[in-house]
Amino acid sequence: MNVGLQKTSLVNYPRRLAAAVFLPGCNLRCPYCYNAELVCASVLHGPVIRASAGGNNDYVPVEAVFEHIEKRKSVLQGLVISGGEALLSPVVPELIVRAKKAGLAVKLDTNGLLPDALQALLGDRALCPDMVALDIKTNPSRYGELLAARQDGSPADGLHAETALKKTLKLLQTPEASAHPVEIEYRTVFVPPLVQAADIQAIADLLQHDAQWFFAPFLPGQCLNPAWNKIRPYTMEEMKQLILLAQTKIPHSTLR
Ligand code: SF4
Repeated sequence: MNVGLQKTSLVNYPRRLAAAVFLPGCNLRCPYCYNAELVCASVLHGPVIRASAGGNNDYVPVEAVFEHIEKRKSVLQGLVISGGEALLSPVVPELIVRAKKAGLAVKLDTNGLLPDALQALLGDRALCPDMVALDIKTNPSRYGELLAARQDGSPADGLHAETALKKTLKLLQTPEASAHPVEIEYRTVFVPPLVQAADIQAIADLLQHDAQWFFAPFLPGQCLNPAWNKIRPYTMEEMKQLILLAQTKIPHSTLR
């Protein structure tokens, strides 16, 4: 299986120097996703490796990630397992076990649509991540609009996604569901059609008062659905207003 590897990063794992692995395939395929090659690749095989100039985020066979963990374990403090949607991948347990054995903390990024797979990891001491970052794209009742962009989608998918996301939220808000304490952060990209004042309020209603909620600006240019490149991003002032609204319910809401 080929995967994306960022050998060192200071931004993917808060307060840690970490390697980040990006696993192929995604069950959402958001129209504004900027990583088309990775999310449209086969979950089992990943994207094709092409000759490159040797950057810091190349596709490599997953065995190269195992080697990197082993070789750099004295320098690295963490491993970020991201995607695509990481929980689709059969390689996640082995990545976690190898990272933990090397003394690295593990952070898992997920879109929250596979609560049973997440529960299986959280409940197992050997596989429980140290941190989970959950992407919340919009008001859960609007996930049907995201899934409508998929050619293989069906009208029932939106309801299924809403139910799955709410199950994941409940799981993350139930400390006893995890084999050890897990740091949680929530993330939302300010995509104007999907994240408006009413959506912020609906999402905030689902989070705990002391949740850590991070926002990021929408950056058009490489959207999976090219029509979304024409969407005007929020201005800084518009984002500030939405963050102030979020802070009325979730004080630790900030722009990242
Ligand atoms: S969930 Fe993330 S990786 Fe998947 S399509 Fe959406 S933005 Fe891309």
